[in-house]
Amino acid sequence: MRGIMMDFPLTLTTVIRRAEQLFPHVEITSRRPDRTLHHTSYGAVARRAKQLAAGLESLGLRQGDRVGTLAWNHAQHLEAYYAIPCAGMVCHTLNIRLHPDDLAYIATHAGDKAVIVDDVLWPLFEKFRERTPIEHVIVIRHTGGALPPGTLDYEDVLARGAARAYEWPELDEYAAAAMCYTSGTTGKPKGVVYTHRSQVLHTFGEAFANTLGCTDADAVLAIVPMFHANAWGLPYLGAMMGARQVFPGPHLDPANVLDLVVTARVTIAAGVPTVMLGLLAALDALPTKPDLRELRRMVIGGSAVPQALIRAYRERYGVTILQGWGMTETSPLASVGTPPSWVTFATPEEEDSYRARQGRPSPFVEIRARDDNGHIIPWNGSAMGELEIRGPWVTAGYYESPDSGERFTPDGWFKTGDIASIHQDWCIEIRDRSKDVIKSGGEWISSVALENALMGHPSVAEATVIGVQEAKWQERPLSVVVLKAGKAATHEELNAFLAQQFPKWWLPDATEFVDAIPRTSAGKFLKSALRERFAKRLMA
Ligand code: ADP
Repeated sequence: MRGIMMDFPLTLTTVIRRAEQLFPHVEITSRRPDRTLHHTSYGAVARRAKQLAAGLESLGLRQGDRVGTLAWNHAQHLEAYYAIPCAGMVCHTLNIRLHPDDLAYIATHAGDKAVIVDDVLWPLFEKFRERTPIEHVIVIRHTGGALPPGTLDYEDVLARGAARAYEWPELDEYAAAAMCYTSGTTGKPKGVVYTHRSQVLHTFGEAFANTLGCTDADAVLAIVPMFHANAWGLPYLGAMMGARQVFPGPHLDPANVLDLVVTARVTIAAGVPTVMLGLLAALDALPTKPDLRELRRMVIGGSAVPQALIRAYRERYGVTILQGWGMTETSPLASVGTPPSWVTFATPEEEDSYRARQGRPSPFVEIRARDDNGHIIPWNGSAMGELEIRGPWVTAGYYESPDSGERFTPDGWFKTGDIASIHQDWCIEIRDRSKDVIKSGGEWISSVALENALMGHPSVAEATVIGVQEAKWQERPLSVVVLKAGKAATHEELNAFLAQQFPKWWLPDATEFVDAIPRTSAGKFLKSALRERFAKRLMA
């Protein structure tokens, strides 16, 4: 027997319509390139999104067409996030931190027909535009400079759209809404294509009190870029819940972010650990501390969150850290480190250590992990294996990529490439990415655990641990450390510090002190560059 309920599609259109009708007055604040603040509201953004959609149609764009964006986080980018999918087109965010050759490949592979680009990013766009099939270039002019030849002004496209009556089309919930390319572990970048349904369910998954717990009392600051992994879905979460949204524009430096947190009364800030480490250092250096009482929580993910960072924010600023784990392939948020209410922690540090894990899967997300021999590992917190995942916002393949199959198990679970332990309560603990794993004499050493511990040393600003070739054990850990200004430490001191927590055979064989650790396009430590640089360090 079949149930008798309406066949009501889960589309982003319902989310945007809700924001327009219920929260028209709720504010959206963005920092412009000239550092001034721009204020608008869901009412205005939703109205302008319709104008943009109609304007794109007037250029000849149709449902299914890919429209790229090359832009920082701001209200116009939000309009594109709403207009493009709700018009039935596909919003393809291009990562501004990638090399122009990669951008040329990605825009061509995705078949982008139009692109919306920030004037301040024009020099980057020019480097790959000619190598793509892009027909229409729409420029958001923040600075009032001249419009590059052969391009359209974003406001003119909206004005064209405003000239006609426009209603959002009815869409199939399985229609593509957005796409993001992931760097992948090997080979060319691969495209993940989200559906309306997956985006809507992912937004639900984020909203629960036990996940991000977002309400209409919140102001959400997405420091995480809108050009990487959908800004973790926050633009849709805000619209569904009626939360204020705050965008840093191109100004991601600690001083500007802090100022935004205070002036826009941010309650939830989201970003990768490196950004939040920078923010902490800037806070610590201030003679007079800003009032951060309203900042209820910081959502940090993208790479492992050091326990020392969690503790520092709690002790010194009263800010709670919520760790999220996920991937471009999982929309991205798949698990959140909210401690269960029935667990009592003897000390605040014990709770910090729970929060330093990657948390339990969101509702509808299922996980398991498999060891080297292909066996599913027990949930005992110590066995390690590759994490596998399934759920309604997990990708089922890659766009036009014939070798997608390798990333899936025969029964259809996605192989994450992350090495994890699973605790009894289903809490995930990421030990490594499979490409970063250190195997010493056939045994795994968790680089994540070592680097997180190192970042708890009082002299260490940033640290990462890589596996490098070694004669006896094939591979051994090597620490790469950035010291805090005016502080000193030796390899022996750092190892003595690690020895309090780890067995002797885990301790790094050497420490390289560097000025900075190279970053990926998403602001994570670029370990592959360090592995190349220090490949022979232990072979001398
Ligand atoms: P990439 O980093 O390859 O450009 P993603 O942004 O999709 O692409 O990265 C996903 C990966 O980031 C995960 O597979 C995992 O290795 C890492 N990651 C994300 N969140 C966390 C976290 N909270 N702790 C540890 N690793 C994380």
